Amino acid sequence: MRQGKNDEGKRYSPHDELIDSLKRENIIKSKLVEEALRNIKREDFLWKGEPRSVAYFDEPRALGDTGQTISAPHMVAIMLEEAGLRPGLTVLEVGTGSGYNAALIAYIVSRGINVESLEQPLVFSIERDARLVKFAKENLEKAKLGKIVEVVEGDGSLGYPSSSKEMKYDRIIVTAAAPFIPPHLESQLKIGGILLAPVGELPYQTLIKERKIRKGGGGDEKVEFSRERLMGVMFVPLIGEGAYRK
Ligand code: SAH
Repeated sequence: MRQGKNDEGKRYSPHDELIDSLKRENIIKSKLVEEALRNIKREDFLWKGEPRSVAYFDEPRALGDTGQTISAPHMVAIMLEEAGLRPGLTVLEVGTGSGYNAALIAYIVSRGINVESLEQPLVFSIERDARLVKFAKENLEKAKLGKIVEVVEGDGSLGYPSSSKEMKYDRIIVTAAAPFIPPHLESQLKIGGILLAPVGELPYQTLIKERKIRKGGGGDEKVEFSRERLMGVMFVPLIGEGAYRK
């Protein structure tokens, strides 16, 4: 590892090293994503017993014996950038896992916002594994983001609230692989909103970015989706009624 000082004259930590290298590779592009990655400590979202020294290796890490993982930092950064997050947006994350990605999203969408004045959370994150729901809630409380993120236990392939048709979310970020984009998630996306999801077979998928756009003018509520294939990715499966059946 490179020894020395960073631009601000401070000693490099493995955390700084990782962020600087993601910047050099142009994976981190925006100030807000950089700030979020600097301020939210991945070491606080590792499973108990994991050495803190592995927190800033750019690789996924197992979440105990749950069979699930905390995604690799570069993957998290790519999704945050592609989601085009900004303060004030309402976001649904499907697949809370450790809560790390939810914490980063929460950091960005709550920037400059008086949290006390929020009538409801800005980020909803849904997870099917009860042990991870508990783990993520504790991690987010410790990071003082409990008011901004609501973690719910359930099947996120049906959206949240389950099967609602209300266009509630500006962004929907799915962090588990689905065979197709769950239609309930498409219905819950606002017009102008962006949905990101790894779609395809296991173990390799394509990261898809969908935008919901109004079709025609004149108050007509017909919508369509523009679809972009971003890159090849590897995620654990999204298991649920609107995705891979167990
Ligand atoms: N975003 C996480 C990593 C997610 S791993 C992080 O930052 O740590 C994918 C997660 O999706 C796993 O925790 C898995 O249990 C969950 N998952 C799989 N199918 C799901 C479903 N139908 N609804 C909600 N969560 C689901």
